[in-house]
Amino acid sequence: EINDTLGHSIGDELLKSVSERLRRCVRINDTVSRLGGDEFIIILKEVHKKADIERIAQSVCDTLNKEFMIQDHQITVSTSIGITQFPKDAATADDLLINADQAMYAGKHNGGDGYSFFDDSMRQAMIERNQTLRDLKLAVPGNQFELHYQPILDLDSGKITKAEALIRWRHPTRGLISPEIFIQLAEESGQIIEIGEWVFREAAKQAAIWQQSYSPTFQISINTSPLQYRDNGIDINSWCHYLEQLGLTGQAIIVEITEGLLMESSSAVKEKLWHLRDAGIEVAIDDFGTGYSSLSYLRKFDIDYLKIDQSFVSNLSADSEDIALCEAIIVMAHKLGCDVVAEGVEEKDQSQLLKNAGCDFGQGYLFSKPLSASDFTLLLNS
Ligand code: C2E
Ligand code: CA
Ligand code: CA
Ligand code: CA
Repeated sequence: EINDTLGHSIGDELLKSVSERLRRCVRINDTVSRLGGDEFIIILKEVHKKADIERIAQSVCDTLNKEFMIQDHQITVSTSIGITQFPKDAATADDLLINADQAMYAGKHNGGDGYSFFDDSMRQAMIERNQTLRDLKLAVPGNQFELHYQPILDLDSGKITKAEALIRWRHPTRGLISPEIFIQLAEESGQIIEIGEWVFREAAKQAAIWQQSYSPTFQISINTSPLQYRDNGIDINSWCHYLEQLGLTGQAIIVEITEGLLMESSSAVKEKLWHLRDAGIEVAIDDFGTGYSSLSYLRKFDIDYLKIDQSFVSNLSADSEDIALCEAIIVMAHKLGCDVVAEGVEEKDQSQLLKNAGCDFGQGYLFSKPLSASDFTLLLNS
C-alpha cells in the first residue's frame, strides 16, 4: 500500500527510516522487524511492569509522530500499536501475534493513534467468534438455516411480483441469528460458498411452489457474496440443471450482487456474470448508491435491476435532497435499461414519492417484514 501511494523508492526509504527510529526506542537485545506491508513487530525481552511497556510504547508513538523528510517530501505517519504479553496472554508465537493484531485493531477502532493492550474482553470476543465458526460448520448439514421472504411490489399495480430471500440461522441453543452476525464470518471461513449453494436451492424450490400456486412469473431474489464469483464459486451449469429439474427457467431467480463486484475485473467474475445472463437469470445491484460503482458498468454487464439503498429512502420527503437523488438514479437507470427497486420503504408518503418519481418496485416494512415461507403463502393468498 505504501509503495502504491508513494512510489517504491519513497516507500522503501520511509520504511527504512521508520525501522531506524524504532530501533532507537528499544534496547540492543530487543527485536525490531518488519512483518510485511506497513506492519512492524517489536519483541521486548524481560519487561514485566506494565508501566515500562507503556513508556516504550509511548516513545514509539512520539518518535514516529515527528515528520519524516524523504526525497524532499514531508511525510506524516500515524501509529497504532497492539500489545500482548508472554506468558500471561498466550503461550505460542502464533497466538501472541493474533492477540497483538486484535489489540491493534481494537485500538484503531477507538480512534487510531496510540497503543492498546490485549485484554479479556478481546479474548472473550475471540472465543465467541471461534465457537460461532465451529457451530457454523454444522449449520448446513444440521439443517439449521431458513429463508425468510420479503415481498417486492410492483408500485403501479400494488401487486407482489417478487420476494427477496433473507437467510436466518436457527442455532440449537442461541435461537434465531441474523445474517449480520454470521455472513461475514462465513465469508472469512469460506463457508459462504456452501451456504450460497443452499440458499439457491432452497429459493428455487420455493419459487417452483409459488409459480405454481400464485403466479407463473413470480421471481425470488437471492443475495450472493462476491466470493461466489471466484473460480470455485457458483457453477451456473449445475444451477441451470437444478432449475430444469424443478421445471423452472432462469427467469425464476434474480441474483443480488454488490457494486464492488462489478469493479472487480477478474475474468472469473466477468465470465460468471455473462453466464448468468445467458441462463436467463436476472441480476440486481444491491444497496445501490453506497459503493463506488460507475454507471458504465450497468450497461457493460446488462444489469436488470438497481436496488436503491434504504439509507436514501429512509429520509425521503418532498423537499429533501434525497428525493432529487432518487429521481436522478431512476431516470439514469431507465435510460440504461434497468428497473429500479426501492428498499426500506417504511411509510406511505415515501412509497407515493417514489412511485411519482417513476420507481418500478418497492420493498420494506410498509408492505411487510420478511416472513417465513408459510406466512408468505398466507400473504399471497390474502
Ligand atoms: P440486504 O440485502 O440489504 O437486505 C435488506 C435488509 O433490510 C434485511 O435485513 C431486511 O430485513 C431489512 N429491511 C427490509 N425492509 C426494511 C425496512 O423497511 N426498514 C429497515 N430498517 N430494514 C428493512 P436482514 O434480513 O437482517 O439481512 C441483512 C443483510 O444480510 C442483507 O442486507 C444481506 O446483505 C445479508 N444477507 C441476507 N441473506 C443473505 C444470504 O442468503 N446470502 C448472503 N450472502 N447475504 C445475505
Ligand atoms: Ca439484498
Ligand atoms: Ca439492500
Ligand atoms: Ca436489461
